[in-house]
Amino acid sequence: MNFGTRLLHGSGDIDKNTGALSTPIYQTSTFHQFDIDNFGKYDYSRSGNPTRDALENLIAELESGQRGLAFSSGMAAISSVLSIFSAGDHIIICGDVYGGTYRASTQLFSRFNIEFTFVDASNIEEIKNAFKENTKGLYLETPSNPLLKVTDLRAASKLAKEHGTITIVDNTFMSPYLQRPLELGADIVVHSATKFLGGHSDVIAGLVVTKTKELGDRVYQIQNTFGAILGPQDCWLIIRGIKTLKVRMDAAQNNADKLANWLDKRKEVEKVYYPALKSHEGREVHLSQADGGGAVLSFKFNSLKRTKIFLNNVKNVAVAVSLGGVETIVSYPVKMSHASIPKKERDKLGVTDTLIRVSVGLEDIKDLIDSFKEAIEL
Ligand SMILES: *Cc1c(COP(=O)(O)O)cnc(C)c1O
Repeated sequence: MNFGTRLLHGSGDIDKNTGALSTPIYQTSTFHQFDIDNFGKYDYSRSGNPTRDALENLIAELESGQRGLAFSSGMAAISSVLSIFSAGDHIIICGDVYGGTYRASTQLFSRFNIEFTFVDASNIEEIKNAFKENTKGLYLETPSNPLLKVTDLRAASKLAKEHGTITIVDNTFMSPYLQRPLELGADIVVHSATKFLGGHSDVIAGLVVTKTKELGDRVYQIQNTFGAILGPQDCWLIIRGIKTLKVRMDAAQNNADKLANWLDKRKEVEKVYYPALKSHEGREVHLSQADGGGAVLSFKFNSLKRTKIFLNNVKNVAVAVSLGGVETIVSYPVKMSHASIPKKERDKLGVTDTLIRVSVGLEDIKDLIDSFKEAIEL
């Protein structure tokens, strides 16, 4: 079955009991046991729920993994995955990681004596040189946020394998439609399903997929113990979002490509970051492991004044945190997603106060470019 079909029929779709086409929402905390000597499949919804199962099976199928797990947010998913490590373990992590992941590693897990080394993962040599005796994890995001830097997933996970290290990839920006890290050698994929998978800016959710059953069991143990599960209503919303992933992604990516090329020609714009753009450093590697540039781009204005004027005046788009919704969202990383990264670190990464990130939505591209043009020319 091709990907577009699997989106619709991958979760077992039709309900065996009733024939319902839409997965029923099992809004229950507990389950009656009909036979005291032989308990049923479900007993308590933290441990398992049929609606959550449908989503977990669906995402596992789409990411080509053995097990899927649904969490109450992307950060709950990421924190739960990091919780499979122990005090004394060392993790190599990409420097321009999502702000919340940076906070979780530097302010939470470091307190439990898990050690992190931040590297520029787009440079495979830096990853290679960071391995230590106690390295147990390699944590990557590609393309990264907000500068869309590209990591060679095949090469990085091969290195990790040689060191007996687990590779974890945050695949939020691409979604399994465009990139499937487990097929490239990674061991665990994490998602903020709040973004492209949900797709409508109406739910907070996180997903994990593991390549092996054994890793799945380890993350499940954390899910059941720590308890940051996704409720059945929200599972249903993510299942519904996933049904249209392909058509949304195709349309948004098409718009993003046009907007990136238009911005690239403007004299007010210093640089455009979009992985499918001809001038993008990581383009070749990216297109060897993903089926397109995606729907997120960033750009730098040539002055702070123009950056502020643009943000305060751009019409028909949201100026907000988050991405991956049907509406275009313009965000300002230094005050939003990357506010928790110290200025010194941000400057080192190139996340400056003239940088704007755009999650391109499904608006008519002519209207979108007109809105940008108007705000740029003020
Ligand atoms: C939003 C985001 C997260 C965090 O997800 P939440 O659902 O907001 O908790 C993690 N990684 C990336 C790349 C994100 O964009």
